[in-house]
Amino acid sequence: MTNTEIASGLGEINREGGRVSVDDKRMINCRADVNQLLPLKYHWAWEKYLAGCNNHWMPTEVSMQADIALWKSPNGLTEDERRALKRNLGFFAASESLVANNIVLAVYRNLTNPECRQYLLRQAFEEAVHTHTFQYIVESLGLDEGELFNMYREVPSITDKAAWALAYTQHLEDPDFRTGTPETDQAFLRDLIAFYVVFEGMWFYTGFAQILSLGRRNKMVGIAEQYQYILRDESIHLNFGIDAINQIKIENPHLWSPGFQAEVRTMLAEACELEVAYGRDTMPRGLLGLNADLCEQYMHFITNRRCAQIGLAPVFAETENPFPWMSEMMDLKKEKNFFETRVIEYQSGGALDWD
Ligand code: FE
Ligand code: MN
Repeated sequence: MTNTEIASGLGEINREGGRVSVDDKRMINCRADVNQLLPLKYHWAWEKYLAGCNNHWMPTEVSMQADIALWKSPNGLTEDERRALKRNLGFFAASESLVANNIVLAVYRNLTNPECRQYLLRQAFEEAVHTHTFQYIVESLGLDEGELFNMYREVPSITDKAAWALAYTQHLEDPDFRTGTPETDQAFLRDLIAFYVVFEGMWFYTGFAQILSLGRRNKMVGIAEQYQYILRDESIHLNFGIDAINQIKIENPHLWSPGFQAEVRTMLAEACELEVAYGRDTMPRGLLGLNADLCEQYMHFITNRRCAQIGLAPVFAETENPFPWMSEMMDLKKEKNFFETRVIEYQSGGALDWD
């Protein structure tokens, strides 16, 4: 069997294959059977799969009545708020698809561990739920669907971000791409960093701050509630990505060379700059409680935090978090949401009645 067949799990069955031992399992370039979930090696991956399942939600459960009334009312929102909101929705609408496509078409086949793949399958579904959210918002508010979904090709500050990230996944999309050399293993790590640390871990956060700041002022509370659920999902996606990157580093210390570390710090600095440009473009005059300067400070704070999470020296001078309220937003312990619309209770047992 070729290494590719072993990695995919879809090769000829090895009838003499012995049982899997935990010690044989690896994040990348694994030769142990990827079709056997047990015995578990990476408990952190399984825990995140369970946490994702416990956070199940659907966008259609959130009432859009207040949002529709406010959006349709001529004085409900300022022109600046409308611009920021539409660009925010446009950024997320396409980004959720880019992230989903990267997971399914680039990450999944190169991550050779069944408990990580179990999590990726859950994450892929969550990205579908997020894309569904934007379909539901467009339909509820009667927005121009072409304008919103094509924004990532029409608004340069959004295009620049998408193009930056796509360069990393395009590298992996070549059908002949295989991990297994230091160069290709590093290319795979760069993709994980571009999508988990930058896209989901940095760029989504200005977007969350914009919408949740509106929600705190009682505007677009339905969308704000949906973003709170998305934020809860995304914080697990980010943490899975960070654990995956750090585990690959532990198993392949030669990949994390000083030169590569410098390169990754440059990646994060560039990504931060793109986000600052996006902040200026979406909020040229600032909104109540939020402006491009505060978003820049927030992005510096977030960038340094992401550096620390993957073991890198900070890129920016130490700065305070200008949006301390964002951490409350992430703290959705109970199935009760911040904006007090309604309580959603999920249960799995007893929900299905076949008779
Ligand atoms: Fe998402
Ligand atoms: Mn995500």
